[in-house]
Amino acid sequence: MKIQFFGAAREVTGSKHLITTIEGKRILLDCGMFQGKGLETDAMNRDLGFDPSTIDHIILSHAHIDHSGLIPYAYKLGFRGSVICTNATRDLCSIMLTDSAHIQELDVKWFNKKRERQELNPIEPIYDQTDAEKCMELFIGVPTGRRFYINDKINVKFTNTGHLLGGGVVNLEINENGKKIHVAYTGDIGRQHNRLLRSPDPFPQCDYLITESTYGNRLHPAESETSVDLLRVINETCVERGGKVIIPSFAIGRTQEIVYILDKFSDEGKLPKIDVYVDSPLAVNATDIYRLHPECMNDEVKHTIAYDPDPFGFNGLHYIKNVEESKKLNDLKKPCVIISASGMMEAGRIKHHVANNIEDSKNTILIVGYCTPSSLGARIQLGMKEISIFGEKHPINAHIEKIESLSGHGDYNEMKQFLSCQDPQKIRKTFLVHGEYATQQFYENELEKVGFHDIQIPQKGEAVEID
Ligand SMILES: [Zn+2]
Repeated sequence: MKIQFFGAAREVTGSKHLITTIEGKRILLDCGMFQGKGLETDAMNRDLGFDPSTIDHIILSHAHIDHSGLIPYAYKLGFRGSVICTNATRDLCSIMLTDSAHIQELDVKWFNKKRERQELNPIEPIYDQTDAEKCMELFIGVPTGRRFYINDKINVKFTNTGHLLGGGVVNLEINENGKKIHVAYTGDIGRQHNRLLRSPDPFPQCDYLITESTYGNRLHPAESETSVDLLRVINETCVERGGKVIIPSFAIGRTQEIVYILDKFSDEGKLPKIDVYVDSPLAVNATDIYRLHPECMNDEVKHTIAYDPDPFGFNGLHYIKNVEESKKLNDLKKPCVIISASGMMEAGRIKHHVANNIEDSKNTILIVGYCTPSSLGARIQLGMKEISIFGEKHPINAHIEKIESLSGHGDYNEMKQFLSCQDPQKIRKTFLVHGEYATQQFYENELEKVGFHDIQIPQKGEAVEID
């Protein structure tokens, strides 16, 4: 068979790895979108590098857009095979792909205004909400740990990665020339301890390994006292100063973690009597999906569910989808916490909340995740006196605080620990994907120290024959 790498090759987005068997079956591992590459991104996403109508199956490691985001585009271009993933991944995709389509429609509107001024023809979005909805008809949800037979020669099993709700290693078994070949594709690898999700599970021995390397040269700092810091900021802001805490947060994963921490404080009677608002339609929908999948949760969450049937709901917590209700938050005079997307403050309702609250010294803007250097989230942290939002200047009087929260990706020691379930001598070749090249070279060296050999860092478009 042949493996060809069409994305996340010496970079961290656009995961797409195509397996073509001797009999001509074409299986695409992930169909992710390229992100954050400026003007280049659009062109990179429009050129898949292969004809999607020739693909038989897409096997999806997890729902993040850099792994799933081009499935509606493949559908638009004629892909009618099946998308095989875990049940939770399927459920998350049903909201994330429509959201992604919505973002693209907005982006294209903005682009086209600019193009009109330059007297250029308007462009179409890569895909629209109809494509995102229609492609969901192709999805097949499989329970984690259950082997799914695609045909009599090919089967797949997902094993938990602890990275995102539903995330799984794709364990493929392909029969060729009377021989069973095991290919494992790890997708993204989570941390050993996640506040909500189960820790990563060992996966069956493979012959060929395709594995991520995002933090291949990095060790995370020891887990900080996130929960204690969060409570301190709420007490200082809301109780002592009578202000508001504004938390920019990623809609999926991080928001549910914060709500879960606050829920526990509420159960323990430690949370002051204030209102907490989750103001993001995607976060609200995602939380519903988290509730549907207790099988993905760690023991502590399962234990909590035994006495608190809704770990994502408590007195004073309000979920807001509607724009009018969101606007009403602007006029609120009393202390409260507002959690809203996006995490880097680049888009979404959070920009309005930050603009409305950053001038008041009673308030706190609490940053809980990584912000890329050019984002509003990063600029706010530079200690400047004022900031421009929606073209208007705002003096920064609010307190700016940061909590080093957990990353969704394991560092290189955690990834090595995750791979320690494998006998590296039995692996015939290891492919490093989903990482910057320098990082991958460092990680290659780390893996060699623990017995991995024949490690390859494929370039975009590179094809490798395996047997
Ligand atoms: Zn991911």
